[in-house]
Amino acid sequence: MAKIKHLPLHEAQKIAAGQVVERPANVVKELLENAIDAGGSHISISIEDGGKQLIRVVDNGSGMDREDAKLCFEKHATSKISTVDDLPSLTTFGFRGEALASIAAVSKVSLLTKEQSATEGLRVTAQEGAIQIEPAGCPQGTDVTIRDLFYNMPARAKFLKKRETETRHIIHAVQAIAFAYPHLHVQLFVDSKQLINCPPQDTMLQRCAQMWDATTAKHMLAIEATRSDKGISLCGAISNHQWFRYDRSGIFFLVNNRWVTNIQLGRSLLKGYNNVIPHGRYPMAAISIMINPALIDVNTHPRKEEIIFAHPRTMEQLIQETIRKALEQHLSKQIKKEVSLYQPTSSTRSSSSSVSFTPASFASVEKDIALFKATLPTTATAPKAFASFDPASQSTSVTQEVEKTKTIPIIDTMQAHTVIGQFAKTYIIIEQEDGLFLIDQHAAHERILYEQFSQQFQNMPTINLMFPQMIRCSPQDLALLESHLELFKEHGITIEPFSKDQLIIQSTPVHLKNAPLQEIVHQVIGWLKELSNVDQEQLHKTIHDKLRAQMACKAAVKAGDQLTQTQMHELIKDLHITPNRFSCPHGRPTGWMLPLYDIEKKFRRKT
Ligand code: ADP
Ligand code: MG
Repeated sequence: MAKIKHLPLHEAQKIAAGQVVERPANVVKELLENAIDAGGSHISISIEDGGKQLIRVVDNGSGMDREDAKLCFEKHATSKISTVDDLPSLTTFGFRGEALASIAAVSKVSLLTKEQSATEGLRVTAQEGAIQIEPAGCPQGTDVTIRDLFYNMPARAKFLKKRETETRHIIHAVQAIAFAYPHLHVQLFVDSKQLINCPPQDTMLQRCAQMWDATTAKHMLAIEATRSDKGISLCGAISNHQWFRYDRSGIFFLVNNRWVTNIQLGRSLLKGYNNVIPHGRYPMAAISIMINPALIDVNTHPRKEEIIFAHPRTMEQLIQETIRKALEQHLSKQIKKEVSLYQPTSSTRSSSSSVSFTPASFASVEKDIALFKATLPTTATAPKAFASFDPASQSTSVTQEVEKTKTIPIIDTMQAHTVIGQFAKTYIIIEQEDGLFLIDQHAAHERILYEQFSQQFQNMPTINLMFPQMIRCSPQDLALLESHLELFKEHGITIEPFSKDQLIIQSTPVHLKNAPLQEIVHQVIGWLKELSNVDQEQLHKTIHDKLRAQMACKAAVKAGDQLTQTQMHELIKDLHITPNRFSCPHGRPTGWMLPLYDIEKKFRRKT
């Protein structure tokens, strides 16, 4: 007996709709794009229960006549193209004519719409394929209301996340559109409260101040670049080297005003910040790329979130170089004295691009600049790196103390050794029979504490803070954190919600009593967002590890801390009995050997 049969149309549409509509934020994005395609200049979005109960988007655009209003919910009904040959010259977001059809297949939709010339408006309702139209009084434009998303697909509804998570995704989508169109007036109401109100602006920098806050805006740098030979130009705003986040939620890429999430664009951005901001941190950026539409393919992703570039390498290089140039110029302004010339590495050098990467000077004095200097081509071999060390020089210091002749067995080799002292208040120099051993005091202490924390968390001594620390964060972040507070408790940190946007820390492990915990808390929020697709068990394990590393980092001695001889000996002794002692929890080496043989070769005593 034949097994194949045609699915009823509305069932097939529900299945297809799942591709377009995965979560409420996708609906918001489609409706916003329709509003912009219709020429709206003022768009207001309202959501309830993370968009699961209600999404309403009101625009003052062209509106629809009766004919269009009837057709707009039909699949492949679009006013934007007639043939695929129109795609290369597309100027609208929409072209597939499937968004409204898909949304209507999985929710209860009603729509009010009126063209400017019409005497009255129309009310259209669509549910389970049945469309009703009746006259209605309404202003010019379109007002779409979506209720009960996935009411007829319980299996899909189950996968929707908590109200706060879905709200966060919606906020992100609204911000992206607001960045793409600074001239739009955008409003977002979340559960009847106005969260975003952005009147029209001229520039991306002004938009940043509206979207984020005044302090963030002060840290944003304007960027601009063109590759006219490849038909590309870009402009936007990026955070400077002193301002970063713990997750990617402050990064927006717009290609021909379309918000895209291409992984390679994000990667080129991060490469531009390589060694400028700490590992595991993310910049904030709103970058608008304008490109000849013939050089991209927008028809590759079911939700049109990704596009394909004809020349992806050019795009990556342009982004990376523009970022580095902007950061470098910003840094140059802060320089007090010149010490070295920056030589771009081959990957950042550009010959044909009109974005030229001009070498600039840096001063070593600034802490910020020290960070940036890590991007200098590093000396490959250990002896060379050490060759610049001049014990007679005034500017380098080796902290020596009288008690230096004490010898104890060291590290893996169990050799007798002498602690010579501390160099640059960062490295402990140890003399052994077969060479000099340098220990990075911070990396080593971090590893020691990390392993201690891992073993004795259950009975770690904690302390009640005399002055509890208050930590501010957005209500969405607070809600996200609320269900994970036990993560902190298991690490000896008692943290509780204090108000709708404040947390209070009452007690901490003794090691951390003086550490600012704000950063750790925001870091955890960032991880929770970054790992939102990971299952709970894996999420907790990953965050446990990361949190432990972060706490060890905060509690460890820092580079620049002066250590006494006794402290140095303690540290070496502890390191010796610590598992995984050759690297810190972030993977940096804790120690480094300069063999006697290499020293002798340098002085041509050996060949
Ligand atoms: P697409 O945008 O790909 O054409 P949609 O399903 O999103 O497909 O919309 C179908 C059609 O409905 C659009 O081509 C447009 O003509 C009309 N439409 C949708 N939303 C609006 C709106 N807010 N204002 C005016 N017309 C709209
Ligand atoms: Mg559309």
